[in-house]
Amino acid sequence: MLSIRDLDVHFPTPAGHVVRAVDGVSLTLKPGETVGLVGESGSGKTTVGKTLLRLVPATSGEIRIGDVDVRKLSQRGMKTLRRKAQIIFQDPHSSLNPRMTIRRAVAEGLILNTDLRGAALHTKVSDMLVSMGLPPQFHDRFPHELSGGQKQRVCIARALVLDPDLLVLDEPTSALDVSVQAQILGVLKDLRLTRPSLTQLFISHNLAVIRFLCDRVAVMYLGKIVEEGPVEQVFEDPRHPYTRALLSAVPVPSAVKRPDRIRLTGDIPSPTNVPKGCAFHTRCPIAEKGTCDTVPPAPVPLGPDRQARCHFADQTKGARDE
Ligand code: SF4
Repeated sequence: MLSIRDLDVHFPTPAGHVVRAVDGVSLTLKPGETVGLVGESGSGKTTVGKTLLRLVPATSGEIRIGDVDVRKLSQRGMKTLRRKAQIIFQDPHSSLNPRMTIRRAVAEGLILNTDLRGAALHTKVSDMLVSMGLPPQFHDRFPHELSGGQKQRVCIARALVLDPDLLVLDEPTSALDVSVQAQILGVLKDLRLTRPSLTQLFISHNLAVIRFLCDRVAVMYLGKIVEEGPVEQVFEDPRHPYTRALLSAVPVPSAVKRPDRIRLTGDIPSPTNVPKGCAFHTRCPIAEKGTCDTVPPAPVPLGPDRQARCHFADQTKGARDE
């Protein structure tokens, strides 16, 4: 459904440096699959999501959504892309036009991209809003009359009303209160059942949410995917030290034994000055001098759909920590 090959997104800075926001990312999503893209701020995950829909220009590489070569699309072709692929952003408030009723906000995409009009348009919009838990008395309200969770439901309705094949969700619950986050996660979980053919790329820094919603996960660090695999395998047996560190910081119920906390030293390096060798070696608790600081690790295959970009990824679990 979605295929990304060797994607680079580099930005020049006024000081003459180059920000390597995304650096050689490859990722494939099968139809109906939900894949989580996780990493710290500045890892490049949001840039990947925006590049898929040409909201940020790629420097090089290939992006295919179905049979569409996204980077080669003409302006006219972009209309097709907008029907095939939709994005939901973190902050629903700034995503909605304050002067438009929510009915109009959801109808707009259909008016711009389809021939649907009149009663058929009205019915489709109303049904979509109701299916998102917004009954008819809400449909002529403006965004400021809704709560944060209700606004995010409108954004989800606006994306789904076009029946897209691909949905990119960029931290869709991060700006919401915790209780509202749970409701929206429930809505997104239901989508897995009601729209089994919808392919989703779920961008988040929250590993618990990724585990709840996704089939596979890809972990990003400084513009590169450093580990990728089925969610349960990566959570049960992480092979990259960065993934282990992230997982060791996830809160668990007190009765559950948690792995020892791995505290990373130092800050994430600047993407204008990516360390030589393995980009993670300046913070890695098991980095080996002479190897990790000079030789960039290639992805190590660890099974079907499973790989990690570490020189020691195929060693037995925990062996490197001793
Ligand atoms: Fe750490 Fe070396 Fe593996 Fe990089 S290659 S993650 S520095 S052990």
